[in-house]
Amino acid sequence: MADSRTDIPVETRSQEIDLARTAPPISISGKNQGETRALADYAEFWKVPYHVGRSHKQNEILVSSESIPRSEAFECASVIIFPAGPEESQKMADEYNLGLTTKETIIRLPIAPDASVSIRTNVSDFSGPEIEQVIVNGETRVLFRLRGTPLWISAVDLVSDFNRLVFGGLEEVPSRRFRFISRLPFSYRAVPSFVRNRAFKTSRSGAGVTEDELSPVECLRVVFLASLVASTGAPIPRIAFWRKGRSNVLVVTHDIETQTGLEDGAARIADVESKLGIHSTWNIPSERYPLSSQLLIALASAGEVGGHDTKHDGRLILEKLEDKVERVGRCKTRLESLSKKRIEGFRAPLLQHGRELLLALGKTGYQYDSSVPTWEPLSPTSLRPHGVGTIFPFSVSGVLEIPVSIPQDHQLIRVGGLSTSEAVQEILRVSKLVRAIGGPCVLLIHPDYEFGQPENAEAYSRLLEFLRSAPGCETMTLGELTRWWTYRADANIETINGQTRIQSSQIGDRPGDLQLELVTGYGPDGFKITSFDQSQIASLVGDGARE
Ligand SMILES: [Zn+2]
Repeated sequence: MADSRTDIPVETRSQEIDLARTAPPISISGKNQGETRALADYAEFWKVPYHVGRSHKQNEILVSSESIPRSEAFECASVIIFPAGPEESQKMADEYNLGLTTKETIIRLPIAPDASVSIRTNVSDFSGPEIEQVIVNGETRVLFRLRGTPLWISAVDLVSDFNRLVFGGLEEVPSRRFRFISRLPFSYRAVPSFVRNRAFKTSRSGAGVTEDELSPVECLRVVFLASLVASTGAPIPRIAFWRKGRSNVLVVTHDIETQTGLEDGAARIADVESKLGIHSTWNIPSERYPLSSQLLIALASAGEVGGHDTKHDGRLILEKLEDKVERVGRCKTRLESLSKKRIEGFRAPLLQHGRELLLALGKTGYQYDSSVPTWEPLSPTSLRPHGVGTIFPFSVSGVLEIPVSIPQDHQLIRVGGLSTSEAVQEILRVSKLVRAIGGPCVLLIHPDYEFGQPENAEAYSRLLEFLRSAPGCETMTLGELTRWWTYRADANIETINGQTRIQSSQIGDRPGDLQLELVTGYGPDGFKITSFDQSQIASLVGDGARE
C-alpha cells in the first residue's frame, strides 16, 4: 500500500497541457563515464529525451552525479544532483554549507493507486536554513531543494545503488556446498529430488516476496523520474512501456526437466494454453533425455523453443568461458536442427547466471536470456535469498536479460512448502504488484511438477485465464518481448520546431505502436500520465501532423 504520509506536492500547474511548455531535453553529466552511463540508463529506461554532456543552454536541465558550483547552477533552468558515493554527498554538503547525516532506511514510494515500490538503502539527510524538502516518505526526505536556487539534491545514490543491485545481483557466488555437490562424480540430476528439495528448504518457508525485495530498482527509477517532474515543473514526454492500448504483459515460460515432463506434462499444459490462445516459451535441455523432432516442432509452433543447457548438470556456471561458449552453442545447434526453427533464447538450469554466461550467449548468437530471478527466497546456487531487484528487462553484452519476475512454482511449492492453491494465490498477489508497476509478469511453470499433473490442469487454466484477462494485458513469448523491448529501446523522442514525435530507426516496424505519453505530475497515486497520439501532439502545437 502507498504510504499515506508520503508528501509529494508535485504537479504541473494546469490540467490543460501546454505542449509548448514540455520540459526541455535533459543534459546528463557525471564525474566519469560510468556515472554518466548509469544516470543515462535511468533516462533510457523511462525513454525521456536527454543527451549526454552539458549543452550550456540557458533552459538546460542538468542531471549530474557530482556537485556543481552555485554560480554555475544559476546558468541552468534546474540542476538535479544525484550524488554518487558518500564522498560526493560530503563534498556537496561542504560546497553548499549543509549539515549531513546518513542512515540506512526503507523508502516506499507510490507508483499507482494502492501500489508502491520500495528499497532498503542508505540515504543522505541534508540540513540547513536553505534546505526545503520536496519529496518526503514518512520520516525520510528523498528530494531537497536549496531555497531560492535552481538546485535540487537527491538523498538517494542512484548510481551506486543501481550498480550494487543489478550488476551485483547478476554475479552470484556459488556456495561451497553447491561447488561440492556439482563436483560429485554423478550428474546433478542423479541427486534424488527429495534430498535436493530438503537441502534447499528455507527458514522463510511460505513467506511471500516483499515490496523491497521485488522492486528496489523500480524505486530508484521512481526517484529519478519524480525528481525530474518536481524540478522542471513542466510535462515530461516519454515512451510508454508497452504497445498502444496495453498496460502490462504476461509471459508464460516452461523449463522441461525430464522426459516425462516433455511427453506427459508439456502436452497437458500446451492443451490448456492452446484453449486460452496463449503462446508460451518451452526451454529444453538438448542432451539430458531423448528428444523427438516431431515434439519439438509441435512446441515451436505452439509458441517457441529456448535452450536449457545440454545435460542440465548444474555445472554450466562453473565452466570456463570457452567451455560455456561451446556448451550453449552445442545446445542451440541441436535444438535448431530438431525444431527446424532458430533458437533465440536461453534459460540456465537452476536459474544460474552471470556476466560470463551472457557473454557466451552473445558470442553464440542468442538474442535473450531469462535466467535471473527478480527475487527468490533460496537460490540453489548460493543457498541464500537472491535476485536482481528489477522486474524489467535490461541489456548486457548485447543480450537482453529478462528476469523471472514472478516466483517460480518450484520455489513456491517445493522450497516454500506452499500447497498448489496457495502457490496460485501467491502468483496472483505478486502479479498484481508487477502489473501495477507496469512490468512484464514472467511466469516459470515446470510441466514436470504440480501444474503439469492432471489434477491441477483446471487450477492452471484458471490461473492463466485470470492473468490473461487483466485489463490492458498482452500475452507474449520471451522472443516477442525481446523484439518489442529492443524496438522501444531503439526509439527516441525528438522535438523539432515545437513538434514532439517518436523517432524510430528500425525499418519495417510501425512507430505508431509506440505510445507517446506526458508525465504531468507525481503524487500519492504515483505518476500522473496523459497519453497522446503523435498526430494529436503535432496538431496541438499547430504545426500539422508529420508521419
Ligand atoms: Zn531446469
